[in-house]
Amino acid sequence: MQKYQNLKDFDLKGRSVFLRLDFNVPLNTSGKITDDTRILAALPTIEHVLEQTNRVCLASHLGRPKGRRKEEFSLKPVAIRLAELLGREVLLVDDVDKEPIDQVLKQVGHNQILLLENLRFYEGESSNDAFFSENLLKGIDFYINDAFGTIHREHASIVGVPKRLPSDRRGLGFLVEKELKVLSELQRGEAPFTVILGGAKVSDKVGVVLNLLNYCNHLIIGGAMAYSFLKYKGVSVGHSFVEDDKMDLVKFIFKNAEKRNVTITLPVDHVCSESFTEDSDAKVVNIENIPDSYQGMDIGPKTIKLFSNMIEKSKTIFWNGPMGVFEWQAYSKGTMAIAEKVAAGDSFSVVGGGDSVAAVKKLGVEKEFSHISTGGGASLKYLEGSILPGLKVLEV
Ligand code: AMP
Repeated sequence: MQKYQNLKDFDLKGRSVFLRLDFNVPLNTSGKITDDTRILAALPTIEHVLEQTNRVCLASHLGRPKGRRKEEFSLKPVAIRLAELLGREVLLVDDVDKEPIDQVLKQVGHNQILLLENLRFYEGESSNDAFFSENLLKGIDFYINDAFGTIHREHASIVGVPKRLPSDRRGLGFLVEKELKVLSELQRGEAPFTVILGGAKVSDKVGVVLNLLNYCNHLIIGGAMAYSFLKYKGVSVGHSFVEDDKMDLVKFIFKNAEKRNVTITLPVDHVCSESFTEDSDAKVVNIENIPDSYQGMDIGPKTIKLFSNMIEKSKTIFWNGPMGVFEWQAYSKGTMAIAEKVAAGDSFSVVGGGDSVAAVKKLGVEKEFSHISTGGGASLKYLEGSILPGLKVLEV
């Protein structure tokens, strides 16, 4: 079992702290934050540090500006919201690659805090550049990572910076600590343990499926992923999205599930469309087989009932990925129904992944889940047993 130091292990009085956070918030076309959940979630860690020192450097990425300065990805809106929430002036540091941060840190007043501009404006962030990392580290005594969503990335602010500090001066923030606690609890989850997977690709989730087969009792598969499994079983799937080149993986998953006595449940009916467009006519195909001219876009009503019955009987649930093309109203019913059903039960329930979390939020049932993972990709990597570079570097 790996061991990490946590925020409470450190005496930060008068010291300088680099806080890697996840301020990757959604913005509308006029640059307004449409959901500040991630900023609110970071507050306990920020406030804990601020109780001991004001020499704090907050750092995050936002979107994918790909190493170039793009105004629409500026952290300015985050600085404004943070200033309101913290009741202090937030100084946004531009030119992070050139600015001598140690000098700026020395001048931070009592009612101020530093926020570095979007780290992904600089190529050195994603390439984990040594020079960029050293620049970020100037004048820093302690490093805290509280950005679970990016902890699987080998970037400068995730790996390059902490790697250059002594091991007793780097650790986890409150959010990451909680994520790890929940995900390890999940692996010891009470039976029946049901894993619900959806989304686009089998290939993206094969690692996690194979590892979860060691812990779970039932695997429910919906979304586009389901059509590769159905096709493998000989079911007609029309022109549904299928990964024909991944049939060996599907076979491997079926074999492993059988070996471990894990049941795999697939859709038994579908909401289909003739074309992959939002305004196409949605047609319920109330059998397993889909006619040639159609493609599966969402799970059908019989499948919702089938999956719901299994959810009702489960004591532990992990859900990642939508049951259909959730972005389009006509094909969002399956995903919303699953969100509603899991929320209504009293299982230990963990949800991760942008679309499934969005469904939960849209229904306003976040509080009914035991945990909403802040990092869909990172939680899958963790559950598949992969090494997460941002965690590895913090091991003591
Ligand atoms: P992922 O990021 O792997 O969780 O995949 C999410 C994407 O899968 C969403 O954009 C959905 O629109 C898409 N998706 C879900 N079900 C289907 C389907 N039946 N056909 C095509 N795309 C789907």
